Amino acid sequence: MKSGCIPKKRILTLLFLIGIIMLLGWLFFSGTSESLKEPGPLYEKDPKPAPLDGYVICVDPGHGIYPQEMRGAKNPEGTRGAFQAEHELNLKVGLLLEEMLKDLGAQVAMTRTQAQTSLDNRQRADFANELDADLCVKLHADSSPDPQIRGISVLIPGSCAGNDKEMLQDSAAAGEIILSQLLLSTGAENLGLVERTDLTGFYWSEVPVVLVEMGFMSHPQEDALLQEPSYQRLLARGIADGIVRCLVKGV
Ligand SMILES: [Zn+2]
Repeated sequence: MKSGCIPKKRILTLLFLIGIIMLLGWLFFSGTSESLKEPGPLYEKDPKPAPLDGYVICVDPGHGIYPQEMRGAKNPEGTRGAFQAEHELNLKVGLLLEEMLKDLGAQVAMTRTQAQTSLDNRQRADFANELDADLCVKLHADSSPDPQIRGISVLIPGSCAGNDKEMLQDSAAAGEIILSQLLLSTGAENLGLVERTDLTGFYWSEVPVVLVEMGFMSHPQEDALLQEPSYQRLLARGIADGIVRCLVKGV
């Protein structure tokens, strides 16, 4: 064998190695190009659209803790039960309602998300007006010198100078459905739909508005129910169901 001549066995080994390298290269690059592709969806999107998609709802948990200079003769913190102040209950249900409405696809604007606030009723109405909200829901609880009185009522604006006819009709329709859904979800006593012309929050509102009186903190049993998170959830559920039923056609 001449020197410099590569043995046949070595050529075969070389060709074999080149083959292996090419195969590995192909596997690597085909894998790389695969990984550069758009990743597929991890889950299928819910084919049913969210029912409140595109709707703007203002949730106004009544009262709150105001700066000293804003405290007038009237108690801005609302009434009080044995377990909590009204402004605390209103906020708890308000936050639950916010979560439920967002899950249903709504854009939710809260007048407050904490105890402290400086928005008066006129400013709360302006807040909903500026958003051109489809509905504003004000949350309150009741009190009476008669400890036997219990139940839920929904207040709607009666005819005031500033309110247009359509706003009044839409408020009444929303109030009626929200009240019936609340009674279904909580089993509370029905104190009806009540027209009011003396509430500043209604007077300044340009968008449909309802005020839910969620129960009497002066009634010992209802007061005990109102402090239970499961009952607060039933209240929020009833209001959310009512909002869907009044705003979304065919539900
Ligand atoms: Zn109140």
